[in-house]
Amino acid sequence: MVYKRLAKIINEINNILLPPVCFGCNARLSGGENVLCTVCRHDLPLTDYNFKEENSVDRLFYGRSKVKKGAAFLYFSKQGVTKNLLHFLKYRNQKKIGSHFGTWFGAQIKENGNNPFDLVVPVPIHPKKLRKRGYNQVTPFAKQLAHELDIPFSENVLKKTKNIRSQTKKDRELRWQNSQDAFTLGEKPDVLPKHILLVDDVITTGATIEACVQALQTLKGVNVSVASLAVVPKG
Ligand SMILES: [Zn+2]
Repeated sequence: MVYKRLAKIINEINNILLPPVCFGCNARLSGGENVLCTVCRHDLPLTDYNFKEENSVDRLFYGRSKVKKGAAFLYFSKQGVTKNLLHFLKYRNQKKIGSHFGTWFGAQIKENGNNPFDLVVPVPIHPKKLRKRGYNQVTPFAKQLAHELDIPFSENVLKKTKNIRSQTKKDRELRWQNSQDAFTLGEKPDVLPKHILLVDDVITTGATIEACVQALQTLKGVNVSVASLAVVPKG
């Protein structure tokens, strides 16, 4: 425990003292570059998904979940810039990666003129994990997205109630059953939202989103759309 705390402090000191490096390739950043070097920025696997044309996130939920619209900003692959970005965001306390892409994605959504949302809700992590990590890795991205879209943000609407261990070896059906009751509604928002934008860091099978949407839909008459920083492409 003491060691962990110490490691965290050292990590934060490093963040301040060391020259900034690219989270995609570890190259030293030069003036004007932020989060990514110019090369990685050019190589970013952008999806170009907007909330207008049908895309693979929409298709993922057909017949499964009543997701109004879906979009993701980046494609995820086993190797590459997106994976590195998500790793630093989730495990290395690099929250600025989330806010950087929240600004970018938010601007893109606004540019497309498609902002029917009235509340942004991040996919929560279990309180135990929150204590351990110190933050929900989805929050910086979701919060900045809300800020950019000029709509309220709430971390209290959804609660994670089960801390499920890695499920990579389980089949999809079992995974779905497992996560089905892993989320419940937390605090009811002051003003009942009409259209929630549910935000996650990466969408793989869609089971987490499916479980969250089910919990959110216990709010009467609410529509749910989904925005993710990354999505694992199908096929
Ligand atoms: Zn780079």
